[in-house]
Amino acid sequence: MNITRDIKTVLEYLDALGFESLPVIIGRKQGDEGRHERERAAHHHIPDLHASEIKKAAMDALREEIGDCQRCGLSKGRKNLVFGEGSLDAEIMFIGEAPGRDEDLQGRPFVGDAGKLLTRLIEKMGLRREDVYIANILKSRPPMNRDPEEDEIRACLPFLERQIEIIAPKVIVSLGRISAHSLLNTRTPITKLRGTFYDYKGIPVMSTFHPAYLLRNPKDKWLVWEDAQKVLDLLKREKR
Ligand code: URA
Repeated sequence: MNITRDIKTVLEYLDALGFESLPVIIGRKQGDEGRHERERAAHHHIPDLHASEIKKAAMDALREEIGDCQRCGLSKGRKNLVFGEGSLDAEIMFIGEAPGRDEDLQGRPFVGDAGKLLTRLIEKMGLRREDVYIANILKSRPPMNRDPEEDEIRACLPFLERQIEIIAPKVIVSLGRISAHSLLNTRTPITKLRGTFYDYKGIPVMSTFHPAYLLRNPKDKWLVWEDAQKVLDLLKREKR
């Protein structure tokens, strides 16, 4: 891919000039952070690169690196890898467990019945699906939708971690037990985790029930709505 080669050339050029980080604001870097790099960029007449272009290049490069992934046994049974989708400038990332049948067929996250419920939640929050980023702990469907195994999570999680790093969301909503346990490295039951923010590398994480659970237990929808409102409040407070 040309863009990958071009970015590599730019990085090598900046490296040769002695830069230790990119002379642009990426993610939430503000104020004094990165000032020296930006001053040095101005000195060398390096044009300002837009963070969104860099994010797109980084995400495209990551997708290319994953390729037709064979890093775990799930590759044998899947129809399509489900990378994730949405805005790279998203303030909120929703992270589920793994693709199901519909997602495997379409290569897109949360497009089945649980996905329709998630989309309704996002819209009730005053957002569109395109405004957020949606991904899963696993990118390949486990057979018969069984729980992901430890080695599968170990093989796949580093790629999600890099997606989170690139997007740098202000908040993560983890959907269901597997997502919460994998991201927060805990075994605390989801019933105890939900409703409270925990930290993932400086990003607040709100764990809540998985939409598939809500399809079976609609009486608990109000709890998820309560969690979603906490997420919206946090974003509102940040903007003040
Ligand atoms: N369940 C998930 O956890 N993820 C999907 O993408 C679909 C269903």
